[in-house]
Amino acid sequence: MAEQSSECLFCKIVYGVIPAKRVFEDELSLAFADINPQAPTHLLIIPKEHLTSLAHAAKDHAALLGHLVFVATELARSYGLEKGYRVVVNTGDDGGQTVQHLHAHLLGGRAMKWPPG
Ligand code: 5GP
Repeated sequence: MAEQSSECLFCKIVYGVIPAKRVFEDELSLAFADINPQAPTHLLIIPKEHLTSLAHAAKDHAALLGHLVFVATELARSYGLEKGYRVVVNTGDDGGQTVQHLHAHLLGGRAMKWPPG
């Protein structure tokens, strides 16, 4: 079983303690619908292992990080986001991270603006 933090909201989702609309899962990762969607498709892709943020990643996490991005790509394909999509990893306070378990947002189904707020 992946390492978990007993106080972490997304670890609780991984272990089914808190419900979520799970859309994909494999040995390393879990994807589920964001509870407060900001686009017609808004999924979160997380490692099952507790990793606080990108800023906490070590060299050993490189393959896991690549895997999460690849899962986002596969989900974008399966959700028909052929017009484009955005994958965002908010990191730390200035990055707007509010849940302290690394997660990639997959947003699609509408045109995105740049720069983000
Ligand atoms: P952050 O701001 O850290 O980049 O993103 C955290 C995301 O987690 C937000 O988009 C927020 O809506 C989502 N979120 C927070 N709590 C829950 C929850 O209990 N369940 C689900 N499915 N999403 C959540």
